[in-house]
Amino acid sequence: MKSIIKNKQQNYELLKYNNFYVFLINTQTKTTFVSSYLNHGMADETKTNAGISHLLEHISTDGWDKCKESCTDYWKKHGTSMNAWTFQTGVGYHINGLNEFQYKMVDYIVSISCDPKIKNARVIKEKKAVHQELLNHKSDPQYDLYNLANKNIFSLEGMQLQDNCDSNINNLNKLNVKMLESWKEKYYGSGNTIFVISGSFSSNKMKAFIKKKLSNYPIKCTVKAHTHFFKPGFKIDYTKNKASEYSTIFLSFYNNYNLGNINYYKILFLDALLNRGSSASILMYELREKRSLIYNCKFYTFDTAYGTQILIEIQCFHKNIKPILKTSIDVFNKIKNNSFDNTIFKSVKNVILTDTYEKCMNNNTVADFYGHQIINQIHEKDIKIFDRKMLIEFMNNIAKKDISDFAKETLNYSNLKITYSSTSQISGLENFVKNLLK
Ligand SMILES: [Zn+2]
Repeated sequence: MKSIIKNKQQNYELLKYNNFYVFLINTQTKTTFVSSYLNHGMADETKTNAGISHLLEHISTDGWDKCKESCTDYWKKHGTSMNAWTFQTGVGYHINGLNEFQYKMVDYIVSISCDPKIKNARVIKEKKAVHQELLNHKSDPQYDLYNLANKNIFSLEGMQLQDNCDSNINNLNKLNVKMLESWKEKYYGSGNTIFVISGSFSSNKMKAFIKKKLSNYPIKCTVKAHTHFFKPGFKIDYTKNKASEYSTIFLSFYNNYNLGNINYYKILFLDALLNRGSSASILMYELREKRSLIYNCKFYTFDTAYGTQILIEIQCFHKNIKPILKTSIDVFNKIKNNSFDNTIFKSVKNVILTDTYEKCMNNNTVADFYGHQIINQIHEKDIKIFDRKMLIEFMNNIAKKDISDFAKETLNYSNLKITYSSTSQISGLENFVKNLLK
């Protein structure tokens, strides 16, 4: 195994072997957290297989040949907890348990992330579970709006279909073992998978164990990165709201930072300045306290390998849509021009620093912090790692001007997508907004 990065003070090491990355961090705890991060997700899907990565994720958690009937039953008696997720550009598996089971847990996570066994009985069972999940998601009152927004925001077919339960359900009937096997062949194992082990272990013993385990799998290439992920350009679009009298506005932006870049974390400042629930939210103050235009606004961050998407969701009455857009753009300009109050900036910074210091650094948080950094750099020749101490120092040194510069990049009007659902379409809205953006 080749050592890529080693930090003795912080007890971590990044290793490479057979085109796998392995990150070991010794946290001197009584438990061990074993996780994998796979370089693919909904972004890699197309119309004919949308939903395949999620279905395979469900099947894989039971895909270890050492647990005969069910892996859940196998692990139950160990008192471990396991979980899996499928996002836009990532899939992941993890298990957490007592140190005495650490080698078994590593064996399990490596097995299901490299070559999960796909049995037809399990496929049939998990199709039902996924179907249920999709029906739940489809009942969201904003369902139509999500799908229209995705179509406008993203270039890739898989990203446009990420919330499209109808096409996912339709595909569920067609997906079979053969299709799942070829998906696995392409995206699982060497080249596209990294492992993070956070806990207490003998470094040499763990390295020898993993090396032996990983040598069972063929060396594969890393799947090429996508070239067009977000759709550039300004767009405003409308869908009729059939569900309620309320109107919903989505304002969507993106930047190029992912979790592998320390600048990603500046998004926390925009979140505090624009989200509800933050006492320093300029947007909430202007829209709700000062003008009584809304009750609520939410700020969502979606991190992907290709950058961060932010989505501001505002619920309101139809008649307020125009004044809300005007006020929101005024607030964005205020932040971008660095003309917001210094006391607000200081307050936001203190809140963020308090959160950062207080953040409970359990093995799960540690593993995700490093795991996302590494997987997001899987196409880079030289992987760089920042640790917790560097992040805190970075946050401490952020000045108000840094945030206004970051806002200029992120709240870029030439890529703004506005999507709204309401009882009727507002005529002339596009020209109205374009004039505000001048
Ligand atoms: Zn699921």
